[in-house]
Amino acid sequence: MSSTTDAPTDPPIVEAPEHTPFSSMLQRFDRAAELLGLDDGLYRILKEPERELKVAIPLQRDDGSLEVLSGWRVQHNSAMGPCKGGIRYSPHVDVDEVRALAAWMTWKSAIVNVPFGGAKGGVCCNAREMSIKELERVTRRYTIAIMDIIGPDRDVPAPDMYTNEQVMAWIMDTYSMHQRHTVTGVVTGKPWGLGGSMGRREATGRGLLTMVREASLVKELDLANARVVVQGAGNVGATIATLLDEIGVKIIAISDIDGGLVNTGGLDVPAVVAHLDKNGSLDGFAEGERCSNDELLELECDILLPCATENQITSRNADKLRCKIIVEGANGPTSANADDILDANDIFVIPDILANAGGVVVSYFEWVQDRMGYFWDERDVNNRLHRLMQKAFRRVLDRTKSSAVNMRTAAYMEGIDRVAYFTKMRGIYP
Ligand code: GLU
Repeated sequence: MSSTTDAPTDPPIVEAPEHTPFSSMLQRFDRAAELLGLDDGLYRILKEPERELKVAIPLQRDDGSLEVLSGWRVQHNSAMGPCKGGIRYSPHVDVDEVRALAAWMTWKSAIVNVPFGGAKGGVCCNAREMSIKELERVTRRYTIAIMDIIGPDRDVPAPDMYTNEQVMAWIMDTYSMHQRHTVTGVVTGKPWGLGGSMGRREATGRGLLTMVREASLVKELDLANARVVVQGAGNVGATIATLLDEIGVKIIAISDIDGGLVNTGGLDVPAVVAHLDKNGSLDGFAEGERCSNDELLELECDILLPCATENQITSRNADKLRCKIIVEGANGPTSANADDILDANDIFVIPDILANAGGVVVSYFEWVQDRMGYFWDERDVNNRLHRLMQKAFRRVLDRTKSSAVNMRTAAYMEGIDRVAYFTKMRGIYP
C-alpha cells in the first residue's frame, strides 16, 4: 500500500492485553532473580519449562458430530519433586497461559515448602456447554494423551477452573485401568472415599482465610468491622465468602461470570451460595443490586479478594481500587504493570503464589495419605494447612523486611531461592 502524504504510515496500534500471563510471570521472575543475584546458568534453567506436551483430543459430541480439541500439559520444573498442578477446561486456554500457570505452581510449591515441582494442564473447551458424557469422554481421552508423562512420582494433576472431583475420579480410573491396578496417587482433589482427602475441596479458600487473618494483623485491621469484596463465586470465591461470613466478617459484594451483586449493609452469604448452587448464577437473587465486574473491583472496601481469573487488575483500573488489602485467590489476577500502582497507593497485596497455595498444600496431604493408605480427619487436615500457610506468610513477610521489597517480590524470591538451592545441590546431569 502506498501513501500519498508524508504522514506516518505505521499501522494503528491495536490494543492488546498489557501482559500475557507468562510475560507477567517473567517480569516478576526477572526482578526477583536480579535481587537474589541468581547466576546466569540457574536463571536460564529456572525460567524455561522442562517439557511441553501438546495433544489433540477428538471428541464425539452427543449429537454424533466430531470435534478436535487442543490440550496441553506443561511441566515447568521438577527439581523439588514430582510436578504438581491442576487441569483447567476453558475456551480461553492456550499454551502461554498453561506455561505461566505451570511456573506459578513451581514457585507456589516451593514457597509453602512441599516436595513438588510445578506443572499445569489445559483443554480448550467450553465445559459449561458440554454434557456430563462429553466431559467424561474428553477427560478420558486427554488422560490417555498425557499418560506417559503423569504418575504419582512424575506429575500429579488436580482440579482447576471448570474441573472438579468427578473429573479427577475419571482421570484416576482411566490411568488405573491402563496400569491394571488402582493408582489413587496419580491425581489429587478426588472424591473423599476414593482416595480423596477431607478438606481438599475447601482448601484454597481455607488457606485464604489464614492469609486474610495474617494480613489484617499486619495492617492492624479489625476484621469484625471490615468490609470485604469477593470477585468470583466458584469453589474458591464461594468458600472464602462462606468462611469469612461464619466468623462474622461482612461480605458487601460478590460476583459471578456475568457480574456483581452488592449490598453495602452485608450480603446474606448462605442464601447467595444456596442460590448459586441451585441456579448456577447470581441472576434472580432477591437481595442487593447488580453491578459490572469493573464496578465491583472499584468498590470502597477493606479487603478485596480476586478469586476469578487472570488480568483483572491492570494499569487500566489499578489506580481506581479503593481497598487496603488484596488477597489473590485466583492465579495471575494482577498484571505486572499494576504492581507499582498498587504499591504507590499503599495497598498491601498478598500475591497468588502465596495466597492461594492452600490447594496444593492439601493436595500434598492427599498424596501423602494415598501413599500411606491411612486417612486423616478434617480437623487434622485443617490444622496442618493453617500452620503451613501461616509459616509461609511469615517467612515471606520477613523477607519483605530483610530485602525491602513488597510481598509479591518477596514471595518470588522465596520460591526461586528454594528451587535454585535444590537445582544446585542436585547438580546438572550428566
Ligand atoms: N489448581 C490449584 C492451583 O492452582 C491446585 C493445584 C494442585 O493442587 O495441584 O493451585
